[in-house]
Amino acid sequence: MKTTKILSIKIDVDTERGTRVGVPQLVSLLKELEIPATFFFSLGPDHTGRALKRIFRKGFFAKVQRTSVVSVYGIRTLLNGVLLPGPHIGKCHADLMRKVQAEGFPVGIHCYDHIKWQDGVAKMPEVAIAEEFGKARVEFKRVFGVEAQAAAAPGWQANIKTLAVYDQADLLYGSDCRGVRPFYPRVGEKIFKTLQIPTTLPTLDELVGLSEFPLERLNDYYLSLLQGDYPNVMTIHAELEGMKYLSWFREFLLKLKQNQVEFCDLETIAHNYLKDQEQIPICEMVQGTVINRSGFLAVQDN
Ligand SMILES: [Zn+2]
Repeated sequence: MKTTKILSIKIDVDTERGTRVGVPQLVSLLKELEIPATFFFSLGPDHTGRALKRIFRKGFFAKVQRTSVVSVYGIRTLLNGVLLPGPHIGKCHADLMRKVQAEGFPVGIHCYDHIKWQDGVAKMPEVAIAEEFGKARVEFKRVFGVEAQAAAAPGWQANIKTLAVYDQADLLYGSDCRGVRPFYPRVGEKIFKTLQIPTTLPTLDELVGLSEFPLERLNDYYLSLLQGDYPNVMTIHAELEGMKYLSWFREFLLKLKQNQVEFCDLETIAHNYLKDQEQIPICEMVQGTVINRSGFLAVQDN
């Protein structure tokens, strides 16, 4: 008997431009193909330009060459927060965000300030993380009128302190790490109560431009990675699959449908797992690496 393969699309929205241009394009594509997905918004100032600092970090040059950062993000975005004041995404695009939710897509917190979290959270004290996440929650509530139920950390930057902050926020689930299947995270002796649903698949920017994966072969490669035992989770970016790679993403989704892959949003996956909490494993969350991504990030030790 063939097992059904379930894929959950998790959309990280990093920038003002991604929110304004990428998000509406993804909404209309997903609606056309009747595919559920979950959007995670950056709610505060867009300081993407500060990512220029990362150019000096090991591993970034190769990625710049492979994905062509300027053509993906645009010059304006790269200057935000450096030479230009960073636009406040929640203030600029609250209506657009509400429209995404009104179209039936669950929404959650990606962050308040993407660069601050991605580059800083590993070294930030818990009280500073609580303050930063608190700002995101306040802005989320202002935009959507309800408390956020879910969060997905920028760059999979999660640790013992961020998990403690999530637990205090009474979230339904978090999606902050790379791994194999949903679990309750443990760091050292501490077990956390917020369900983690990890990203199981490589991201497009980890594959694009590698000689062994020309774009036309990526569909088949992704299909070969899907497994039947647990929900597959793919993180996409409004700035990539919603813009420069939109036509590739459309072909990819059509191919998945042809192959009888079923789609499910993360909220539904969380509710299904939480119906039977005894079955949810406790797994260590560690700091690890993934191929073609620079630096350390949170990984499930299954
Ligand atoms: Zn992000």
